[in-house]
Amino acid sequence: MKRAIYPGTFDPFTNGHIDILERASNLFDEIIIAVAVNSQKKPMFSAEERAEMIKECVAEYPTVKVDTLHSGLLIDYARQKQAVAIIRGLRQVADFEYEFQIALMNRHLCPEITTVFLMPNEKYTYLTSSIIREVGALGGDISDFVPKPVLKRLKARIGV
Ligand code: ADP
Repeated sequence: MKRAIYPGTFDPFTNGHIDILERASNLFDEIIIAVAVNSQKKPMFSAEERAEMIKECVAEYPTVKVDTLHSGLLIDYARQKQAVAIIRGLRQVADFEYEFQIALMNRHLCPEITTVFLMPNEKYTYLTSSIIREVGALGGDISDFVPKPVLKRLKARIGV
């Protein structure tokens, strides 16, 4: 039974996140999406709202679970869940340096857990949660980039 953790802020969850999730689902028996509270980033949606939306988006994936990460180190959480891997998406070179630092630190802290980087379909290379929030707030059509449950919540929150 190979379990992986897919951590992130997911503010909000996008089709790019789903792309990575699907690739990871083909590699692991179970994926836990771990929603970081991340108050530093001042998220638009609370961790509970984000987790709720993601649950609706992944309802059809039987091997995917959703949890919230309130405090402590991700690697400790992953160890506690007996995960073998941490999944991260790599879109562009810009993602690389920061991700590399964290992955190496996590490997130092826990050598048994491997960080796995997956590349999304090219059409999601420039898709970020922050661009979705910005374009949505300014009235742009973002329906090609987010799952329906997210679009519904964004509409309710910012009238997209
Ligand atoms: P974080 O604050 O942890 O970076 P994000 O929600 O921005 O949270 O991203 C979570 C993970 O999903 C990261 O590994 C990120 O690289 C990946 N990701 C975000 N957007 C995309 C996308 N469009 N395509 C592929 N991976 C993505």
